Amino acid sequence: MNPEQAYQELLQRARERALISSVNSVLGWDQEVNMPPKGAAWRAEQSAYLSGLAHSKATAPEINELLLSVEESDLVDDPLSDVAVNVREWRRGYDRATKLPTEFVEEFARTASLAQHVWAEARAKSDFSLYAPKLSELIELTRRKADYFGYEDQPYDALLDEFEPGEKTENVKRLFEGLRAELVPFLQSIVNAPKQPDFSIVEDRDYPVERQRILGEMASAAYGLDYASARLDVSTHPFSTNFGPGDQRITTRFDPRNFGDSFFSILHETGHALYEQNLPVEFFGTPRGDAVSLGIHESQSRTWENLVGRSRAFWRHFFPITRQMFPQTLADVSLDDFHFAINAVKPGFIRVDADEVTYNLHIMLRFEIEQAIINEDLPVEEIPGVWNELFKAYLGLDVPEDRLGVLQDIHWSFGAIGYFPTYALGNLYGAQFFAQARKDLPDLDASFAAGDFAPLLNWLREHIHQHGMRYRAQALVQVTTGQPLSHKPLMSYLKEKYSKLYELA
Ligand code: ZN
Repeated sequence: MNPEQAYQELLQRARERALISSVNSVLGWDQEVNMPPKGAAWRAEQSAYLSGLAHSKATAPEINELLLSVEESDLVDDPLSDVAVNVREWRRGYDRATKLPTEFVEEFARTASLAQHVWAEARAKSDFSLYAPKLSELIELTRRKADYFGYEDQPYDALLDEFEPGEKTENVKRLFEGLRAELVPFLQSIVNAPKQPDFSIVEDRDYPVERQRILGEMASAAYGLDYASARLDVSTHPFSTNFGPGDQRITTRFDPRNFGDSFFSILHETGHALYEQNLPVEFFGTPRGDAVSLGIHESQSRTWENLVGRSRAFWRHFFPITRQMFPQTLADVSLDDFHFAINAVKPGFIRVDADEVTYNLHIMLRFEIEQAIINEDLPVEEIPGVWNELFKAYLGLDVPEDRLGVLQDIHWSFGAIGYFPTYALGNLYGAQFFAQARKDLPDLDASFAAGDFAPLLNWLREHIHQHGMRYRAQALVQVTTGQPLSHKPLMSYLKEKYSKLYELA
């Protein structure tokens, strides 16, 4: 088979895998949105079957032969060509998938599935000791996984790389240390500021659910989400998923007394869906048409949720509409009060409820603990103590019980160690891209205030979405902004915005 034929064969196989995994996405979405509880067991069978099928297709030995044939040809001479990008990422995926022995993958899946049940029970009882033995097993397996994948500097690199290809522990450490050094004292000055918002305006007043839905859809459509190829539904935890060309799904949850929870979840998931909707459709099912990384995905959701959706310019347009929708609720509220309320900074225990200023501190402590677990053999029984100590140092609070501390997240229980940093990297990437967009488009605020978000979406399409996986995240930010990733754009954004809101000297 000549290299051109080999490439065509690889394309066809990639599209087949995309077909299988997109069917699995439909099942996963249905499970969260529609499925009656008694459907769970059979659904697990369906999903496991499709996952197994996709895995066996992804690890077929012929793929190696086909890849070698293209890799040794001149088809990949230009490393940024569509062929080279696809082959680079297929090689990465194939190597990673085949480095793990099948028995190991099964053992990992079995342990993780049991650990999730144990974690849920331990969290309900707020008793870490119930969880510790299973967590130890998972950590041991995760260390073995890092060894199977291999690494140059430290085992945590191999785990990080799974979620953020090419990222290095030392680089994340450098970024987080720079951010933390400025963020911790800045948070203190906000907490001590005499001027504080009345957040009950958005968290404890009447917001009829049907009207929340209409407003949320209106805002996401204004952002450019095409509802001819998207849908909003309700689930316990908001998420977004992509079924394929022309079908993106987002979910939220509604609380009739809390405006912010559902509205900003809709904007967040819209950001994810806009990325998927604007990836080059002609490359669907191949890396060239796929998202770069979890961090870059999160940069898109955070941009639309926070950098745009919590800006004053956005609310100059949307506050009058919001007040029309909830006339009694907001009769006594000004634009300034409302804008301050949706940007309230409140150090709290729960990561998913955290505001823009405190959120990254929640991630940093998880990152430090994960590194200590994987690289330095921190004993499992010492994790809650370290957690509480770091929490006090970063957020100034004493964690009263493990339910509000080390037991709050599901991630470790399914073996996802190395995942958390991508959330904070997303915030850093988002802020750096957005600072560049502002330079390129000086009238951005005026367009937001006029309800026109097309200039920003077009900028993101051109600089980020259209590339698919052409560039790894670290290269994408360099190409787009001329600089490597830094904590500075996020920190300047936070300082400027919150110094004004809290009237800090
Ligand atoms: Zn997200």
